[in-house]
Amino acid sequence: RSIAALDDELVECRACPRLVEWREQVAREKRAAFVDQTYWGRPVPGFGPVDARVIILGLAPAAHGANRTGRMFTGDQSGDVLFRALYDVGLANQPTAVSAHDGMELFGVRMTAPVRCAPPQNKPTVTERDRCAHWLDAEVDLLLPTLRSVVVLGAFGWQSALRAFGELGWIVERPKPKFAHGARTTIRRGDRELAIFGSFHVSQHNTFTGRLTPAMLVDVLSAAARHAGL
Ligand code: SF4
Repeated sequence: RSIAALDDELVECRACPRLVEWREQVAREKRAAFVDQTYWGRPVPGFGPVDARVIILGLAPAAHGANRTGRMFTGDQSGDVLFRALYDVGLANQPTAVSAHDGMELFGVRMTAPVRCAPPQNKPTVTERDRCAHWLDAEVDLLLPTLRSVVVLGAFGWQSALRAFGELGWIVERPKPKFAHGARTTIRRGDRELAIFGSFHVSQHNTFTGRLTPAMLVDVLSAAARHAGL
């Protein structure tokens, strides 16, 4: 199965009744600023090349961001910070992302998430995360031939990444490495190694309060890119 085929299946998924209802309700009701737009309102596939050497793992699509535009991190303030940092590191061809058709191109990096539908209050339940996990497992498996680094945004992404790789037979250090900004661990399977990098999430809460500065994000992305040979 190719990533394109996986994405075609993913966008049809209706496995979580609460999230299906929410993503579609948001898409119908819209935010005033976007009232003339057609919201995506479906599961959001990964974005970036299918031979990526780095993946960036967020949490879940934002109701009026990726759930509106249909592209990961596109159309909200979290994404604005992330795309700007990727551009600054040389991993994107432009600093701003506004829609799925804005010409944005990522170099060697693919963005994805452990939960693919926008959850109420940005909080998926553990059951929803577990139900969605097979999509991430399949995507990671397809990316493995080229993958070298994984950047996880926030503690939820960190736990989801370690769980997903454990499911795929990767050996994770014991005790499980703790999440922190700048945390780094290596997982192993046979003669393969992958480096996992932790960053505070690019949420408005973190960026507005200065808990996560652009320089801090650039540092983690640069380290991941260097490790991956980008
Ligand atoms: Fe399907 Fe995942 Fe969306 Fe649940 S969150 S409906 S499993 S794509």
